Amino acid sequence: MITDTIAAISSAMSPSGIGIVRISGADSMDLIGRIYRSKNGKKNIKMVDSHTIHYGHIMDGDTMVDEALVMIMKGPRTYTGEDTVEINCHGGVLSMKKVLETVIKYGARPAEPGEFTKRAFLNGKLDLSQAEAVMDVISAKSDYALKSSLSQLKGSVQRSIKGIREKLIYHIAYIESALDDPEHISVDGYGEDLEMDIRPIRREIEHLLRTSDEGKMIHEGIKTVILGKPNAGKSSLLNLLVGEEKAIVTDIAGTTRDILEEHIMLHGISLKMIDTAGIRDTEDTVEKIGVDRAKASAQDADLILYVVDASVPLDENDKGIIQLLKDKKAIVLLNKSDLDPVVHESMLKEMLDAPVLWISAKEETGITELEDTIKSLFFTGEINFNDEVYITNIRHKTALTEANNSLQLVLDSIEMGMPEDFYTIDLMSAYESLGRIIGESVGEDLVNEIFSKFCTGK
Ligand code: GDP
Repeated sequence: MITDTIAAISSAMSPSGIGIVRISGADSMDLIGRIYRSKNGKKNIKMVDSHTIHYGHIMDGDTMVDEALVMIMKGPRTYTGEDTVEINCHGGVLSMKKVLETVIKYGARPAEPGEFTKRAFLNGKLDLSQAEAVMDVISAKSDYALKSSLSQLKGSVQRSIKGIREKLIYHIAYIESALDDPEHISVDGYGEDLEMDIRPIRREIEHLLRTSDEGKMIHEGIKTVILGKPNAGKSSLLNLLVGEEKAIVTDIAGTTRDILEEHIMLHGISLKMIDTAGIRDTEDTVEKIGVDRAKASAQDADLILYVVDASVPLDENDKGIIQLLKDKKAIVLLNKSDLDPVVHESMLKEMLDAPVLWISAKEETGITELEDTIKSLFFTGEINFNDEVYITNIRHKTALTEANNSLQLVLDSIEMGMPEDFYTIDLMSAYESLGRIIGESVGEDLVNEIFSKFCTGK
């Protein structure tokens, strides 16, 4: 049972219009009673209705700390499930700190990172997959990432996991009761029924696992590398792609392009460009970064954009690059389509199984086709978050893999004609693996580790 009352600044620690100090816990109402004074000094803030907002001053004894709007929310209808107070004060770094100091002086303790959300989880307001989605929503870098996190927050992952677990627990309960009461409940031929159910469940889990590659790319961006021989037009292409979002990046004060990973947004998908330093610094990427490194970055990439200078014949450099593209997702870009071409689509199609597109980095043509091709290579059809669950979290992926392996063991036991109690052991471990995704039967250490990655005040 959690009893202490916590507080933190929940808005950004930079000068802004409004700053929010959030308080949660059993003592929240008494605490605000000690430091709030209404305009005429008469209102008793502890007696007001829940979910109402009150203008007044935050006081440290007779000293005014700040002018504020105080939001009173009594549990359990709050984010954490506990009594919660949010103080909207002036958004100066100093005024927020002073308000927080006062709140702590009068009885709260500073919240740990993610502690509000952790309490929401411990109080049953969110399951673990939803709590993790909260963080993903905050850190989402693309429209798709935001949409999939919101869908997980609404409970899409939880629902599909719960659905599978219900089916498993039904079988576990049936077998256990049959073993307890063999006179009335028969397990004769039960293996066949069980198998009929386990196979579709495994297909469901495997489908979820397949979404995890897409899920990862949705969240982290498609790791992309641009390869091509000197002068093919790699940096022109990079500049063209980056140009579309330059405004967003340079808006952030104090960021330098060189040390930023280049994140490129194309209609909701994000590309995480790797090894761009090599492209920017030199005329000759493969030469400069070295063949080994080019190989390594090609290996590591989800997507390779291979830029060909179509105005000059293919040479040894091109052959070397083509070798790197085998078994990778690649798009061939025949650049300089504005000049007289000497390279033709068919020449590359003979050597490579990859889409070939004409572009001109100079005249900025072909980019829409490139975007469409990337989408069709990585995302199966239109991404629709209403009816599709994406597994975006590595922890969930691991648990699903374990559950799938346990179910394979159940199928093996059935095939080998093992006694029924063998089935329940593996059914139970599949059930428990899936339970970890939504936070059932997880240890305190794991919970603490997950929430420690959150920001303070969330
Ligand atoms: P990199 O060495 O592969 O990075 O190639 P660059 O992007 O530096 O381009 C090499 C040269 O080709 C530069 O002079 C560019 O202006 C030129 N270039 C790049 N793309 C095009 C294009 O589409 N058409 C034409 N005509 N020239 C291009």
